[in-house]
Amino acid sequence: MLSQRILKINPSITVDLTDKLERLQRVGVDIIKLNIGEPDFETPQNIIDAAKKALDNGYTRYTAVSGSLDLREAICRKLIKDNNLKYTHDEIIVTTGAKQALVNTLMTLCNQGDEVILITPCWVSYIEMIKLSEAVPVIVELDSNQDFKLDIDKIKKVITKRTKAILINTPNNPTGAVYKRDELNELGKLAVNNNFYIISDEIYEKLVYDGAKHHSIASLSDEIKQRTITVNGFSKTYAMTGWRLGYAAGNKKIIRAMNNLQGHMTSGANSIAQKAAIEALLGSQDQVSMMVEEYQKRRMYLLNRLNNIDGLDCNDTKGAFYLMPNISKFYGKTLRGRYIKDSMGFADFLLEEAQVAVVPGIAFHAPNTIRIAYCNSLENIKKGIDKIERILNENTNI
Ligand code: PMP
Ligand code: GLU
Repeated sequence: MLSQRILKINPSITVDLTDKLERLQRVGVDIIKLNIGEPDFETPQNIIDAAKKALDNGYTRYTAVSGSLDLREAICRKLIKDNNLKYTHDEIIVTTGAKQALVNTLMTLCNQGDEVILITPCWVSYIEMIKLSEAVPVIVELDSNQDFKLDIDKIKKVITKRTKAILINTPNNPTGAVYKRDELNELGKLAVNNNFYIISDEIYEKLVYDGAKHHSIASLSDEIKQRTITVNGFSKTYAMTGWRLGYAAGNKKIIRAMNNLQGHMTSGANSIAQKAAIEALLGSQDQVSMMVEEYQKRRMYLLNRLNNIDGLDCNDTKGAFYLMPNISKFYGKTLRGRYIKDSMGFADFLLEEAQVAVVPGIAFHAPNTIRIAYCNSLENIKKGIDKIERILNENTNI
């Protein structure tokens, strides 16, 4: 009855877990949620005020499919200022979350059977988005022993005549890795020489710590820019997950085609959110700095605690709001009468025995890990890690 296309798509583990936790909380279970990648901060007040004003002024109608001209111009200004990327408004499309920008891009570029290189560990939705576009995901696994460094040699090995694009995400969900300028430059050259596109998801660009720097791959040369679609959004930087707003920047022809698709799927994104987004980009960035400082405190605290627990081993990655400790030393052990077989079993164990929610690494093609999100208060992170430590220390034979 259902289409082959939809039958091939797996549910999102991150989103499903949220539903499961909501059900548990409803029956009174007190859970510390270190699972979802969603800022715990409120949307900054100046952005909320801009939305209220938009409503009061009756800004409640359809906008252009690709987003209001004002917002696209604000995005152009932001891309020049922050990313050294020069685009005009007709090279921008505003979307319902970065998710829609990614799906639009893949649907617009890929034919059935085209290959899209995907670097793992990677965010849950990429593989399903690629399958939805009827392309084939080709996986390149990065090495945690090298801090998940972008391994150009490994990428070279999987390029074929069918390679249509590579999908990258820096700073990275779930590893927290931030790719270096020279690595990105090499990747860019590879794309130019082998004639494939780069889809660059930069939604965590502002969340970098310890002096790490985010680089937009499209800014590295004109040739690379021609082959790159840069995706970004408001969910993480401005704590605007529920507003559902993102965008893509790329060459006119591709953006126009994405516009055609979006015109039939959803039309323009929410008009009120678009007004608020202009304020987000052009207004004060003080709240962003405050959030980044706070994430850094939490990151340092969590990293230190994780690496002091016997059996856990965590990379000191410098971006996004995730850490990804290796937990495989617990595999094959029995904890509180439960045999720990894999990351799913380990995450279930933490949820059921310690009431701490994390995401099993298998969701991100990283089967020896769990992902811990530190976009929760320092107090909750402390409580959660205390509980994790206590329960893991019950096992003395690690
Ligand atoms: N890309 C990455 C890497 C993400 O983690 C997320 C989080 N949901 C998104 C894109 C989508 O963000 P949104 O649709 O909320 O803009
Ligand atoms: N991107 C966030 C996460 O990885 C939000 C959930 C989702 O959309 O996957 O947890």
